Amino acid sequence: SENLLEIKNLKTYYPVKGGFFKHTVGHVKAVDNISFEIKKGETFGLVGESGCGKSTAGRTILRLLKATDGQIIFDGKDITNLSGRSLREIRKDLQMVFQDPYASLNPMQMVGDIIAEPIYNFSKKSKEELKREVMDLLEKVGLPPDAYYKYAHEFSGGQRQRIGIARSLALRPKLIIADEPVSALDVSVQSQVLNLLKDLQEEFELTFLFIAHDLSVVKHMSDRIGVMYLGNMVEIADKDSLYAEPLHPYTQALISAIPSPDPRTKKERIILKGDVPSPLNPPVGCPFHPRCPMAIEECSKQKPVLKEVKPSHRVACHLY
Ligand code: SF4
Ligand code: MG
Repeated sequence: SENLLEIKNLKTYYPVKGGFFKHTVGHVKAVDNISFEIKKGETFGLVGESGCGKSTAGRTILRLLKATDGQIIFDGKDITNLSGRSLREIRKDLQMVFQDPYASLNPMQMVGDIIAEPIYNFSKKSKEELKREVMDLLEKVGLPPDAYYKYAHEFSGGQRQRIGIARSLALRPKLIIADEPVSALDVSVQSQVLNLLKDLQEEFELTFLFIAHDLSVVKHMSDRIGVMYLGNMVEIADKDSLYAEPLHPYTQALISAIPSPDPRTKKERIILKGDVPSPLNPPVGCPFHPRCPMAIEECSKQKPVLKEVKPSHRVACHLY
């Protein structure tokens, strides 16, 4: 089907200042040339360890951070350099659900007003209409009507995330970027919130970019998955082929670490040596080569490009 989002060679570098005069002494290559696309109505999972650049990628796509290079095509339109009114217009269609719902909710505002605010900012609706819409959104996310008059601190973590979700839905967006939306929640409420997101996706015809470090969560949610390592996209595949047949040695290690529900089918866990290198000084060649159990000579010299090696399965590795 049609692509809602196309990311082409996206880079987000942060300058690093140093010395007495605070000159730029280098750049953190937080996102270093990634390309992928998200089809209308699907959930694209973006996975990788903390610091791999997945949140930075999400924020760059949302235009909360400035892209250093590359293109963000949303709904057929290049939004990479939009500003002013045209950027404001596009904000309606692109919303974010944050990891920590509490930090993103104003403690001084009634929940009803928190949810109404984006609608109020973007449309001229009567007080009655506004209230009806908010009540409707509360119901859709499974909160009682009297939540309208309460404050965020009166709710549990899972309920707060429902408030954040209601707010993100208020403008009927096309794409929601959910950045670790359940990782701050108790395991017992995680699946409730994930299932709510799935239900809402169907009802509101949403497309999701779902960012998480937890591979089981990503597996539960996604149609297709991209794996990031050190600012790079190292593998993209349909969920089933990624989990059944991971091609990149890094993906293989990640998947081998998922606890198996049945101990008899447990595969051997691949333990990686060393730590993730600094994105300020990424390794030459394949970014994974200092830790890769399969590295060959070429790996420390030439950076592999992401290429399709099977239908709908792309990998950046010299072994293929
Ligand atoms: Fe490992 Fe080489 Fe493949 Fe990189 S390119 S993942 S170092 S085998
Ligand atoms: Mg993050």
